[in-house]
Amino acid sequence: MVRSIKDTDLKGKRVFIRCDFNVPLDEYLNITDDRRIKSALPTIKYCLDHGCSIILASHLGRPKGVYEQKYSLEPVYKRLTRLLDNEIKFAEDVVGNDAISKAQELQDGEILLLENLRFEKGETKNDPEFAQKLASLADIYVNDAFGVCHRAHASVVAITECFGLEKSFAGFLLQKEIEFSQNLLKRPSRPFVAVVGGSKVSGKLQALKNLIPRIDKLIIGGGMAFTFLRAQGLDVGNSLVEDDLVTEALVVLEEAKKQHVKLYLPVDVVAAQAFAPDATSKFVTTQEIPKGWMGLDIGPATSRLFREALNDAQTILWNGPMGVFEFEKFSKGSTKMSHVIAETHAITVVGGGDTADVVARSGDADEMTFISTGGGASLELIEGKELPGIKPLCINEL
Ligand code: AMP
Repeated sequence: MVRSIKDTDLKGKRVFIRCDFNVPLDEYLNITDDRRIKSALPTIKYCLDHGCSIILASHLGRPKGVYEQKYSLEPVYKRLTRLLDNEIKFAEDVVGNDAISKAQELQDGEILLLENLRFEKGETKNDPEFAQKLASLADIYVNDAFGVCHRAHASVVAITECFGLEKSFAGFLLQKEIEFSQNLLKRPSRPFVAVVGGSKVSGKLQALKNLIPRIDKLIIGGGMAFTFLRAQGLDVGNSLVEDDLVTEALVVLEEAKKQHVKLYLPVDVVAAQAFAPDATSKFVTTQEIPKGWMGLDIGPATSRLFREALNDAQTILWNGPMGVFEFEKFSKGSTKMSHVIAETHAITVVGGGDTADVVARSGDADEMTFISTGGGASLELIEGKELPGIKPLCINEL
């Protein structure tokens, strides 16, 4: 269990909230998806209602430890001002003179947003000196940045040593992320079905291994399905196959059988002559992928099969698209999967940035029980790993 922000008196304090405002921007630096900012609002509003002042900090993109205008948090500052309908202050640096003086002048009920944490080299190095400078701006630390909890960075890990367990807390978003992943792994309503897709087996192998003893059915789509199909002896043409993982795939298939997990693989695919948005394509059974062609989406029969397998699900975990959804022509399998999952009455948990994107594009976001804001972090929780950003906030085991 983590220490909740509700466990402390915030009145009159300066509260440092580590958020994940790493939002996508277009070429004009417009925010194209502000879900991550919106997800932080419950914690920010709670703090405002409890009479403290707030210092918000986040990273954005991957600057190399120096200021770069394209990574400035200014667009986030503008969007936050609008979403909170409140004047907020913006520091031009992270722990420099501007941040220090603005933090000192902060009155109860006021908010200060710092510049991009990664404009400081110490952030990604988990540097204790930089963490100390950050910590000296505030009285209390709150972590609400689930998306970076798998990273040992200064504002996530080293800073908790400066504040100590007594003054380090988890925000509401972080608590929700932990609660959903733990409920899934420990107390799922059954049948519990995991739908896994995306490009590679390598990225999800550990998650698959941790899931198998806990689930009733496993549906595998996307590029990673081809390594499993190859393991079953099929010729899948030029489809994505990780040859070095064919044996591991066999182990997963065996383990699923041993644990009585029903495993579903594609029976047909949309095959293309090239990896391109306008490639010539046709749907064929997985036994009949023409030489030189590659499967870039699941086919119509597979969509029906997967829908059937999901029919009686009480809990569904979905991580990874069913095809190359970025190309319109190969997005149908993922869109259909999104609709099918959204229409069930099951508890539906979506993980991974790409999958969240598919759900949003399909217009199903409001129908899902929970959409995780962390890609790598949510996968690591499912893998059963202890996340470095969560560990210092725990009073006992998760
Ligand atoms: P991941 O980050 O592992 O969840 O993978 C997401 C990526 O997998 C997306 O960018 C998809 O385009 C890609 N993907 C899904 N299906 C396929 C496929 N059949 N062949 C190649 N890439 C795929």
